[in-house]
Amino acid sequence: MQYCETCGGPVTDDFVRVFGTDDGEVFACLDCATMREIAAGGAATGAETTAR
Ligand SMILES: [Zn+2]
Repeated sequence: MQYCETCGGPVTDDFVRVFGTDDGEVFACLDCATMREIAAGGAATGAETTAR
């Protein structure tokens, strides 16, 4: 089990693989961010959810 770097909440391995960094870190989860923010890359980059 992995944990969100921001809030410490548990995240699944699949979640990390899909949304996390290459190092296996996740900076947002459904406990501390919205699915929209996570899908936009927030889980891999922290709060950097600005649109590109
Ligand atoms: Zn979190």
